[in-house]
Amino acid sequence: MVFTQRAKNIMISLWFIFVPIGTFLVYINSPTKPTEWENYGYYLLLALLSSVFPFVIAGSTIILVLWVNAAIFMKYGLLAELISMQLSMFPVIYHMKITRETLFKYFFNSFMFFLLSVICGSLILGLGFEVGSIAIMDVILYGSLYAISYILLNHVILYIRELICGFKPFFLTKDFYWETACLLMTLPFGLSLYLFETATGPIALLLMGIPLITITVIVRLYSDSEKVNNDLNKASEFGHELAERLTSAEILDMFVERVSKMFPIDTAYIVDNVIDKFIILRAVEDGVKKELESSHEEIKYSFVGNVYQKGEPILYNKQTEWLHMKPSFLSMEMQSVMAVPIYRNQKIEGVLVLATKSKFAFEPYQLNIVHLLCSYFAVSLEKARYVREAVAQSEICELTKLYNYRYLDRQIATEMEKVVAGAYHSLSLIMLDIDKFKAVNDTYGHHSGNLILKEFAQLIKKEIGGEGTVGRYGGEEFVVILPNYTKLQAINLAEQLRMKIEQTPFIVEQGLADVAREEIIFITASIGVSTAPEDSDEGNSLIRNADRALYIGAKQAGRNRVAEYVK
Ligand code: GH3
Ligand code: MG
Ligand code: MG
Repeated sequence: MVFTQRAKNIMISLWFIFVPIGTFLVYINSPTKPTEWENYGYYLLLALLSSVFPFVIAGSTIILVLWVNAAIFMKYGLLAELISMQLSMFPVIYHMKITRETLFKYFFNSFMFFLLSVICGSLILGLGFEVGSIAIMDVILYGSLYAISYILLNHVILYIRELICGFKPFFLTKDFYWETACLLMTLPFGLSLYLFETATGPIALLLMGIPLITITVIVRLYSDSEKVNNDLNKASEFGHELAERLTSAEILDMFVERVSKMFPIDTAYIVDNVIDKFIILRAVEDGVKKELESSHEEIKYSFVGNVYQKGEPILYNKQTEWLHMKPSFLSMEMQSVMAVPIYRNQKIEGVLVLATKSKFAFEPYQLNIVHLLCSYFAVSLEKARYVREAVAQSEICELTKLYNYRYLDRQIATEMEKVVAGAYHSLSLIMLDIDKFKAVNDTYGHHSGNLILKEFAQLIKKEIGGEGTVGRYGGEEFVVILPNYTKLQAINLAEQLRMKIEQTPFIVEQGLADVAREEIIFITASIGVSTAPEDSDEGNSLIRNADRALYIGAKQAGRNRVAEYVK
């Protein structure tokens, strides 16, 4: 849930308008005030201790403090409860890791609890409860009513806030059920605490406080391990998703995006070490991808360089711990930082840096999880590299090192789309077929034939240079793709090629004779030319047309010539 700045400002204003004056008015008008200061102090201590251990059940954060505050209300009245509730908010606020951006949460919660204390307290007093009464039925009835109205009103306020802020809230949320369930467990403790303490004094607070706070601590420990399990599950799911990505760019983007969502961070950086130079490969600040530059030296002498050197992940809780080793890209607003090495094949390739404006934002177990994610990340990158190499290999002809038909078909289709889209005014295709090559094989052997094909490939590649893409389309057939070449330009280029081939001596070994000796031979090629958009509007037909020009126009007309496609 993301609140707009306006909504945040309103929440802060509500506090200033209502809480200070309201508290003062309650103070003046409250008929009952705590008088036994020492006793009240013990109650406050218990309330504070109870709120120190918030825990998470199924995603809902629960704080068990209402039971103590209900007792305080019955014992000392509205004002005493109001003070206690406001105080017990502080440990909770600490756990919420409030920053400047989330400061509104403090004000809003304080305002909400102020309202809850005043409204629920007034309601119960209005219904006839007398503060300090120990009539058992009154205590059970009014105590329960107090707690129930508290929880209900709490949810009504949150519901209204979300409605006003334009969200689509549910009233009966999971939080509501869990809080009600917890209340069923703790309210009898609260009522007993009040009766028991009134009868026996502060010792009751100890006797009742110990079991309840112990339970809270146990549940919290359990909920922590649940949290770790949860994060581990998320991490493994994430690992699988990463492994499905096939390109490095996709993996990088997904990794940074998911890590940003999984941990409470404001900025994330992947620092890479390429041939002993540090560069920032990816940077995401407040959810926005950034292009950042940082000098190698600056990174080297920062804690990032340290992590790279030592290969150990580090966790900083606040700025003073890393300021003397600050990398230049990290903002001075940051406080908590995790920096984790990224290993590949037992070698550190880079460092992941995660940072946030809150102090003490990360827990040590989270560092381990980030470490685990970095291994997934590195393995996925490695896999992407293999895939890239495999794809490249599958598109290259082993003998001539030129692109093969698989690549050519795809490339022609891609280039053709550009013609259709108007990015190229034309696209020409030259197809060459060596003349009487079978005879060359028959005379000089297959091996010599291969050598000629290799040299022939290099010859065309050199002649074409950067003008187009050269590939081997089949046995002794070659193709040149020429973007932005008109038919006339292509025919001229083809003619140049034809002459160059005709004039180029090829050295072959007379492999079929008893004594091997080198011999110089000359070969010729027949060439067909077709051009888009005039001859075709689709890749396959462009190839077919060039092929037809080659066979009908050049081969059948006597070989060693260039022919254009004619409809
Ligand atoms: P033309 O094209 O002029 O009609 O005659 P050609 O002899 O070149 O044509 P054909 O299609 O009959 O034969 C092509 C020959 O190319 C058959 C084969 O021996 C040879 N060839 C194809 N691929 C290779 C290869 O990888 N290595 C070698 N050495 N020869 C090959
Ligand atoms: Mg041939
Ligand atoms: Mg052929």
